[in-house]
Amino acid sequence: MDGADVTGAAIATTIQANAPLRWRPAPLVRLSIMFHGLLFLAFLVFPAHWCGFLLALLGNHLVLGGLGLWPTSRLVGPNILRLPATAAARCEIGLTFDDGPDVQVTPRLLELLDRYGAKASFFLAAKQAALHPALVQDIVRRGHSIENHSYNHSNAFAWYGLGRLHREVASSQALIATLSGRLPAFFRAPMGLRSPLLDPVLARLGLRHVAWTRRGFDTVKRDPDEVLRRLINGLAAGDVLLLHDGNAARTRDGEAVVLAVLPRLLDAVAAMGLKSVSLPMAFQDK
Ligand SMILES: [Zn+2]
Repeated sequence: MDGADVTGAAIATTIQANAPLRWRPAPLVRLSIMFHGLLFLAFLVFPAHWCGFLLALLGNHLVLGGLGLWPTSRLVGPNILRLPATAAARCEIGLTFDDGPDVQVTPRLLELLDRYGAKASFFLAAKQAALHPALVQDIVRRGHSIENHSYNHSNAFAWYGLGRLHREVASSQALIATLSGRLPAFFRAPMGLRSPLLDPVLARLGLRHVAWTRRGFDTVKRDPDEVLRRLINGLAAGDVLLLHDGNAARTRDGEAVVLAVLPRLLDAVAAMGLKSVSLPMAFQDK
C-alpha cells in the first residue's frame, strides 16, 4: 500500500468501533470546573475585580497544565502505569515500543522478539506508520499489537484544544485500523504530555491512556548498560516498560541502543520467570 494513498478517513468499514468509555472527570478536574463556575459568579457580583479573577483563572490553568506534564500523573485523568493484577499473577510484563516503525531498527527488533517468544505493543504515530505499511503489517502478523500514539506526534499536542485533539487521535485510529486491520484500544500521548482535555476525547473513542512503570531513556542515553539498569532494577511482574524503535539513540559503535539492550533485557526477564506480552493480552479479561 502506498503511504500517500492512505488517509485517516479511509477506515475499513468492517472494523467495529471501540465502545465509548464512561467519562468521569478526575477529582481535580471536577474541582477546577467548580472553581471556574465560582469565579464567573464572583465576576458577576464584583465586576471591578475582573483582573484578580483572571489571575486566579490563569493560576488554575497553570496548575492543571503542569500536572499534565508529569507523564505518570493520574491527577488529570486515568492513566495506566501497570498491568492488571490478573496479568501480574500470570508473571507478565508489558513491553512497549514507541515512535516506530523504523526501517533500520524495527525488522531486527521483531526478529529478536520472535527469537525469545516475546510479544509487545507498538505505539505508532499514524503519519509515520503510513510511510511503512508493510512493516505495520509485519508487526501484526507476528502477534504484537499496534496502539495509538497520535497522528503527527507533535510537540504541541498537550496544548491542543478539544476539536484538534479529537481530530488528531481519531484520524490516527482510522489510519492504524486501515493499515493493521484492528482498532487500537490504548493511547499514549507524545512524550507522555497530556492536558485535562485529552481524557474526554479518549473516553469517546474507547481508548485508555497508558504511561509506563519504568523507562530506559533509550532515545537519549547512549550507554546500553545504563538503559538496561534502568529497566531491570526492581523489575517486577505487572510492570510496563517503555523503549523506542523510532528515534533510537546510537551506541558509540553506531548500533541502535534498543537493539543492544533488548537481548539482555529479555534474558533477564526470562531468568526472573517473567513473560513479555502485548497490552491486549495482558488486559484480555479486563
Ligand atoms: Zn513518542
